[in-house]
Amino acid sequence: MKVVRLVGKEQIRVEDAPDAQLQSDDDAIVRVTHSAICGADLLPYHGYTPGFEFGTIPGHEFVGEIVAVGDRVTAVKPGMRVVNTSMTSDGTCRHCRAGRPTQCENRSLFGYSGVYPRLDGGQAELVRVPFANRSLFEVPEGVTNEQAVFIADILPTGFAGVRRAGVGFGDVVVVLGCGPVGLMSIISSAGTARTVIAVDGVAERRELAEQLGATAVSPDDAPAAVERATAGLGADVVIEASGSVPAMKGAFDLARPQGVVSVIGAHFEPDFPLNNGTMFEKELTLVFSVGDPSRDRERLLAGIQAGSIDPSPVLTHSMPLDEAQEAYRAFDAKEMTKVVLTTA
Ligand SMILES: [Zn+2]
Repeated sequence: MKVVRLVGKEQIRVEDAPDAQLQSDDDAIVRVTHSAICGADLLPYHGYTPGFEFGTIPGHEFVGEIVAVGDRVTAVKPGMRVVNTSMTSDGTCRHCRAGRPTQCENRSLFGYSGVYPRLDGGQAELVRVPFANRSLFEVPEGVTNEQAVFIADILPTGFAGVRRAGVGFGDVVVVLGCGPVGLMSIISSAGTARTVIAVDGVAERRELAEQLGATAVSPDDAPAAVERATAGLGADVVIEASGSVPAMKGAFDLARPQGVVSVIGAHFEPDFPLNNGTMFEKELTLVFSVGDPSRDRERLLAGIQAGSIDPSPVLTHSMPLDEAQEAYRAFDAKEMTKVVLTTA
């Protein structure tokens, strides 16, 4: 099978490898048709992921057809068109039993190593999927592969930022950062909120945010936009989707008293100057989420099926797996908002 490998810092190689094989009765093998590159793939790409094992096949968002299953796999079967969950979970540990599969004691993230045990990802012609009963879900009719690939990770993540903030009817929601994940929060809140104010420094991203139902402004204009939309009260919910420290700081200023700062941007800084005085005086809530595809995929797929949400405008580029090297370069250079690698 043909695979993409991250073989060194900023070194992507497309090469031949032995076909992925079932290793356990809970595994399935998927013939991948579409595999996205995520912003999170750029961290090991730049050598920022501690303990990352070069040689790992990246890719935690993929859609394809099942070609083989182990004896204990009953929820999905060969021939089925499926989408994965970015992270695997065993379904049996204490966290899984309590409904917290994203904290599973045996979790792995496809295409990662170091942070979690190594699990080769879906930027390949074939991928082995552990705990396939939980890690795979059938893509319903009427949902395209290009829409379904968003279910693996970023649509549930954007949605989790909205859900866990308790966005309600008539709220003013601010989304800081209009990368793919921030755009998913806009899609997830535009039907409920009174106004979604999208904040980003890149004009093309603001344009996409507007197309998805937000009012988009540059970071400098954000405070005035929130003041206008709320008559000076502040935003009900601020979703931090950029993963940057300045956005994190700004979020607390934009939130109204008793508002919620909901963080879905990836943060790794070990400390942060949280202003406890402001937090206490304004009675703010701060919540972090990584997204839970296994919890939310069915309602999101139903929303796509019904036509009430559509993530596909965010998928700006599609390239053959063979051109992965160029895809990583261009995605990293922000020449593409979201790119999917396809197999013939
Ligand atoms: Zn578990």
